[in-house]
Amino acid sequence: MGIGNDRSPFLCAISPLNTNDSPCTRTNADTIRTMSTQRLISSSPTSEIEDQTNWALRPQSLDEYIGQSELIERILIAVQAVQARQNGKDDSEPREHLEHVLLHGPPGLGKTTLAHVIASELGTNLHVTSGPALARGTDLVAALTRLGPGDVLFIDEIHRLPIAVEEFIYPAMEDFKIDVCLDTGLNARTVQIKCAPFTLLGATTRAGLLSSPMRSRFGLAHHLKYYSQDDLVHIVRRSSGLLQMSTPDDDALSTIASRSRGTPRIANRLLRRIRDYAQVRHDGQINTQIVDDALNLEGIDQLGLDELDRSYLSTIYSVFNGGPVGLEAISATMNEDSGTLEDVVEPYLLQIGFLARTKRGRQITPRGCEHLGLKPIHTEPIQSII
Ligand code: ADP
Repeated sequence: MGIGNDRSPFLCAISPLNTNDSPCTRTNADTIRTMSTQRLISSSPTSEIEDQTNWALRPQSLDEYIGQSELIERILIAVQAVQARQNGKDDSEPREHLEHVLLHGPPGLGKTTLAHVIASELGTNLHVTSGPALARGTDLVAALTRLGPGDVLFIDEIHRLPIAVEEFIYPAMEDFKIDVCLDTGLNARTVQIKCAPFTLLGATTRAGLLSSPMRSRFGLAHHLKYYSQDDLVHIVRRSSGLLQMSTPDDDALSTIASRSRGTPRIANRLLRRIRDYAQVRHDGQINTQIVDDALNLEGIDQLGLDELDRSYLSTIYSVFNGGPVGLEAISATMNEDSGTLEDVVEPYLLQIGFLARTKRGRQITPRGCEHLGLKPIHTEPIQSII
């Protein structure tokens, strides 16, 4: 997400995305994590430049937003209801606002995009910040007092909001007021500050880490699902038009979609890489053979797995006899950060059924072995805890 770039009339950046991520405070683990997440098939943005390119590919309205049909229908109804109520009012009456919305799901599925779309549909401003950037209560007060009536406040990674700040936000979400404590000891007093009625749009990849008081304050909560093959074909076709490249043929579009791990951000990234390959090695036209060649060059196979995924699976297979094995043991063997493996590698392998998480640890499934061209070790059914 690009904060601080004035790229939209509706975007007002509040503070840097993650103040803790300055280069001088990064730990070794952060550096390893950054290296590993800079994979072509990483679902998180890999650079600021990529973020800017993605900006051009973002749908601008609910009509343009592809997939997630149930969510879009719920949002559409809520937005139209707000607009209908607002139309019946004159300018002196308080502006209607949308209920608070919580979006959860893996990175790259369109949570930030939807925040922009909602603000634009409501004709209000979007203010963007993130959980780690709101380190103190005063950061939140500054953010809330800047909001105009009906504005949308987007808090990315809302699960990383410190508890002290979380408690400030409850009265703001319910009654649009903030109780600020001034001074300490005998001089301590509480001042109540009002803010304009607003919509809080929280996004998280880890809904389980949200406290239940926080979760219960959202009127609309929705889990974003991985995109279907058809939706991804549609997204890639649209993006190729926006990038002013010659549209890949239908087979090529399906091949790109099937290697995108159900994630629009990855689909767009693969498309840009294939476009470069087609321009340099061919005449710019994209067909299935060119998609195959470009992605093979990047080490991405038919299911969108890359070298890191395959080496993770083959470590479990060859070193730990197929598992079950603990994450720390795999991480030590691969010399890879365990957080990266858990957040970046495992979710997709679990989703496609190549990996099972059992009570005793991680285990490669027969399908996973088959994909690597290896003979399955375990043939009995696996008791997965997922
Ligand atoms: P998240 O906030 O969930 O990490 P983003 O909203 O930043 O994901 O989406 C990443 C990119 O994927 C966007 O820049 C956009 O180009 C593309 N994208 C996401 N969702 C859609 C969608 N429904 N239709 C078309 N493109 C999408």
